[in-house]
Amino acid sequence: MIFRPIELSERERRLRSEARDFLQANLPPGYRPGLGFAAAHDPSFSRALGARGWVGMTIPCSYGGSGATAVERYIVAEELLAAGAPIGAHWAADRQIAPALVKYGTESQRSAYLPRIAAGECFFSLGMSEPDAGSDLAAVRTSARRSGRGGWVINGTKIWTTHADRSHYIVVLCRTSVNEDRHHGLSQVIVDLTSPGVFVKPIEFLDGSHHFNEVVLDDVHVADDDILGVVGAGWAQVTSELAHERSGPDRFLSVMGPLTAFVRRIAQQTPEGNERAAIGRITASLWAVRQLGLAVARAIDEGATPAAEAALVKDLGTTLEQEIIETLRRVSEIELDPTSSDPFESLLAEAVATGPSFTIRGGTTEVLRSVAAKGLGATQW
Ligand SMILES: Cc1cc2nc3c(=O)[nH]c(=O)nc-3n(C[C@H](O)[C@H](O)[C@H](O)COP(=O)(O)OP(=O)(O)OC[C@H]3O[C@@H](n4cnc5c(N)ncnc54)[C@H](O)[C@@H]3O)c2cc1C
Repeated sequence: MIFRPIELSERERRLRSEARDFLQANLPPGYRPGLGFAAAHDPSFSRALGARGWVGMTIPCSYGGSGATAVERYIVAEELLAAGAPIGAHWAADRQIAPALVKYGTESQRSAYLPRIAAGECFFSLGMSEPDAGSDLAAVRTSARRSGRGGWVINGTKIWTTHADRSHYIVVLCRTSVNEDRHHGLSQVIVDLTSPGVFVKPIEFLDGSHHFNEVVLDDVHVADDDILGVVGAGWAQVTSELAHERSGPDRFLSVMGPLTAFVRRIAQQTPEGNERAAIGRITASLWAVRQLGLAVARAIDEGATPAAEAALVKDLGTTLEQEIIETLRRVSEIELDPTSSDPFESLLAEAVATGPSFTIRGGTTEVLRSVAAKGLGATQW
């Protein structure tokens, strides 16, 4: 496993202050931050960000993107997440569908989707998990069979599909042939969520909010052109996308809202020793995880697929997020009240209710440790 120390260039540092200026101009005064990439779904904010060139930043200029590096995207993403900006609508398209289309898409898919993603106008959901296939993703049973009238017919059920009720498309991982090695014979298909035979049913989250859904695909017909990448190579494609999904700042900045609100709160009084020590420890840990995440982004820019490194960053980052919630709860000694008018109190209550999901979404801790351990085993010392 390799994490090279990285220095940000002058241009990269400038980008950070530009992102801060953008947020100041585009978030209303007194904006209540969301929790990382679970923040509000706000298509108008996504469009404003797209107009600034900051959705699908790494999409080449010829497809309407900014041709930015993964590190540049990382910097802008950090600022958006730290502010708890309403990025929910475009997040999946920005983070992993756009890179997948650039890498595996046909020319007509790239021209059809990438400019609209970059404009912040085209939103995707991720159709990987199923009722009996989460960590063991190769167990997916959703099938795509050749149709007599050309194209494919998809049948199956996806679950925990974030924003499927509001996205335009879903990328479905499905089985296109049965092989002895379960990692072969999987394919990715782009499905229009308004297609006949697609049924989206809401699943309420623990705190009563609704982000994710069950998606039933009942004889959904798609064209040959809707296959993303190579038929049968879905496993390799999905695992390479996971490097984008797992190592970003969205894996350690979900609770910047309550953390910042807590720091503001104690700054008004004289902070106790234990409060100062807790903030110091959290800051040091955040700094370390951030350096690792940036190192992965640089490696992606250099053409690597650091899947094991990304798994390690996600494990460290999401475990840290949960520790931050517990630390804030312990040192503040407040009663949890999601309806409190005090931003710290309501944000912490929301974080306590949703925090357990941080180490589940995008791959559970146990599974990530297994991926990271295999990566360590492959390292030449
Ligand atoms: C907020 C949220 C949003 C999500 N959004 C999406 C989405 O948009 N699209 C999508 O496709 N999915 C989404 N998911 C699903 C998520 O990817 C899965 O929940 C996750 O991969 C775990 O799968 P599972 O729930 O089936 O649990 P399981 O795989 O059944 O795991 C249950 C437990 O067993 C442990 N376990 C499983 N296998 C092993 C093993 N080999 N070794 C050790 N322990 C093991 C796990 O660590 C876990 O603790 C989302 C989940 C959440 C919480």
